[in-house]
Amino acid sequence: MAIAVAGPEIERLIQLLARLPGLGPRSARRAALHLIKKREALMSPLTSALQVAIEKIVVCSTCGNIDTVNPCTVCTDTRRDPAIIVVVADVADLWALERAHATSGRYHVLGATLSPLDGVGPQDLTIDALVARAKDPQVTEIILALNATVDGQTTAHYITDLLQDANVKITRLAHGVPVGGELDYLDEGTLSAAMRQRTLF
Ligand code: ZN
Repeated sequence: MAIAVAGPEIERLIQLLARLPGLGPRSARRAALHLIKKREALMSPLTSALQVAIEKIVVCSTCGNIDTVNPCTVCTDTRRDPAIIVVVADVADLWALERAHATSGRYHVLGATLSPLDGVGPQDLTIDALVARAKDPQVTEIILALNATVDGQTTAHYITDLLQDANVKITRLAHGVPVGGELDYLDEGTLSAAMRQRTLF
């Protein structure tokens, strides 16, 4: 049991911060101290930003993205290609693809990947909604942008089987050499996948 160094209110702040991903107890203490020192400049705006977030954030009923409007900004953006649905496991993956300007398509957030060992089955994912969206005649391609892990690939195969009858092309992200990557440092699985999926130069 760690010895408390501050009053219960400050300890509570530290404990809450320590629950954030990437922050252990030490960095939570540093973050709390920083917030307290910058009370006016940081803590008050942060408090109101969190309050607004609590009140306004909704999950898009079409794609599962998080926004303050439903349907979300991505779903209602008319510059987006309605023919493409990019399937991701999590909102974090959607944000990563958006940061990279990787696609002009729309998204579908599954909420997780299938993981029999952790008891995550198809009913825990938004797969039914994806199948329904794939049947929209406007949609011609489903891009499976899932993790290159066992769970990610299990999920990709499961969805591919379900969409056999839908009139869509199903693609997935390439596996291979990362941009700026050196061959000597790659694991054998990545190297052999890159060799199998080589493209015409
Ligand atoms: Zn949406």
